[in-house]
Amino acid sequence: MKRYNDFGDFLKGVFPFKVQKISINAGFTCPNRDGTKGWGGCTYCNNQTFSPEYCRTEKSVSQQLEEGVAFFSRKYPEMRYLAYFQAYTNTYGELEILKQKYEEALAFPGVVGLIIGTRPDCMPDNLLQYLTERSRDVFILVEYGVETTSDVTLERINRGHSWEEARNAIVRTASNGIYTGAHIILGLPGESREEILHHADVLSKLPLTTLKLHQLQLIRQTRMGKEYEEYPEHFTLFTADDYVELVIDFLERLNPSIVVERFVSQSPKELLIAPDWGLKNHEFTAKVNRRLQERDTSQGKSEL
Ligand code: SF4
Repeated sequence: MKRYNDFGDFLKGVFPFKVQKISINAGFTCPNRDGTKGWGGCTYCNNQTFSPEYCRTEKSVSQQLEEGVAFFSRKYPEMRYLAYFQAYTNTYGELEILKQKYEEALAFPGVVGLIIGTRPDCMPDNLLQYLTERSRDVFILVEYGVETTSDVTLERINRGHSWEEARNAIVRTASNGIYTGAHIILGLPGESREEILHHADVLSKLPLTTLKLHQLQLIRQTRMGKEYEEYPEHFTLFTADDYVELVIDFLERLNPSIVVERFVSQSPKELLIAPDWGLKNHEFTAKVNRRLQERDTSQGKSEL
């Protein structure tokens, strides 16, 4: 028995075949770095940390898909693909350019949908309208970087948007019938354990399809990394086992209709300051499953 609403099962319910995400770096920039929304970016962000090896900006969307497909299709020839526009802010640009990139991905053989990672303050009405129309024929999931539901923390990490903007973007997108995801970070500086768990109560009331949880990672060449080196007392870093317990407490308070896509992120070792758990994503997931069983609990068990 699955004790949480798992992303793999969600995909199985949507597609009658196996699907694999392929990360794309479409060369978009970020409005929180170029002054449009803010300068300098979020304090924890070093964009290298979420660019897989095959993502190079000088390569077109089709070239990147070709390399991704070649990698997976050797082992699974029947596999289909979701183009995952992951790096930076993938709705930040002229509408025509955005459409061109998305359509290039959708036209690639074997691609059956898009996952578009973006900021909550970057979803203009004309783009939302295009995505709404497109989502009637193809799978589209818009994934918003929400990170926290606390405005105090959003300010502290220089996100450049408010919680209300995140809430609005989620409601607007979902009410247009588009699959809507959120990404949050557990353990941002200044947040107590109870404040972290309260995010689950708040997110549970939103029309979210998917949620990704990430542990706070301190990354080299970031402002937060520097802050950690200067003031380590401002940070509470979890051990892997403590983080498992936190994740389970969080799941217990999370609406069981929300699909949970992942619990951790893995930054390249050479960029990571802390915490270094040495666990792969699937190893961490196995730990969560084991503890869910030991604690005989499940997602939504103590939803408020
Ligand atoms: S985390 Fe996203 S929004 Fe923040 S600076 Fe990095 S790319 Fe921009």
